[in-house]
Amino acid sequence: MKEHIYTIPVTEAFEQSCECPLCFCQRKLEEDALEYELGAAMMEPDHRIGTNKVGFCARHYEKLYNLQKNRLPYGLVLDTHMEEQNRILADAYRKVGDKLAKESTDGLMERVKGGVSGRKRVADTLTAELSGILARLLEGCAVCNRVSHTMKQFADTAIFLFFKEPDFRSKVEESKGFCLPHFRLLLDLAGETLPDRKKAMWLRTLLPLQLENLERIQGDVHWFTQMFDHRNREADWKDSRDAIQRAIQKLGGPLDLM
Ligand SMILES: [Zn+2]
Ligand SMILES: [Zn+2]
Repeated sequence: MKEHIYTIPVTEAFEQSCECPLCFCQRKLEEDALEYELGAAMMEPDHRIGTNKVGFCARHYEKLYNLQKNRLPYGLVLDTHMEEQNRILADAYRKVGDKLAKESTDGLMERVKGGVSGRKRVADTLTAELSGILARLLEGCAVCNRVSHTMKQFADTAIFLFFKEPDFRSKVEESKGFCLPHFRLLLDLAGETLPDRKKAMWLRTLLPLQLENLERIQGDVHWFTQMFDHRNREADWKDSRDAIQRAIQKLGGPLDLM
């Protein structure tokens, strides 16, 4: 079964004492995906077709740069990606260039006539088309795609093991819950894949675990803020010293904080 491929890394992740075992998995996957992008992927024509099309998100453009190596492969990837995308943007503009020029000099009569006929203005159609192209470019990322594809299988494995292995179920129950993005991933996956009774069982574990741990962190953050009150200057920080870092991870998923 496909789940078995990921049993070892998933079990290892649930043995960590952290705010989200799936973040632990994702960090490793992301590191591998970044190395792959400027290494082996360079030689795979199919993969290059993908990066030419989607590029990377801002976070991963930055991380690829910060690897501080493989500058030539990075340059080659950017070169062919931009060549393709610049052409798409230019084509969208050029194909309506003449009509746009005419529209820009339309007098009052033409504007009234256009309004009456309900004809869409070229400027509006072009704006919508460009906005769509840019949305696709800005939302796409070859690294994110690769990581999220595997993360889905990791989460699938975690749900599978939860029902199959009592030991693993205990690990889940004793964990500190999940960050919100991975909480959502687990909810959605269970919703799509589990039969009704198991869906209810899963929620009866996941929800109390998640709520309890979200409240714990909020309590830690609250105590952190209270420690700035002069009346608490002798008080114990308890678990609040790194409350902000842990809260940020809980809310946002795996992050690289300075
Ligand atoms: Zn997470
Ligand atoms: Zn990305």
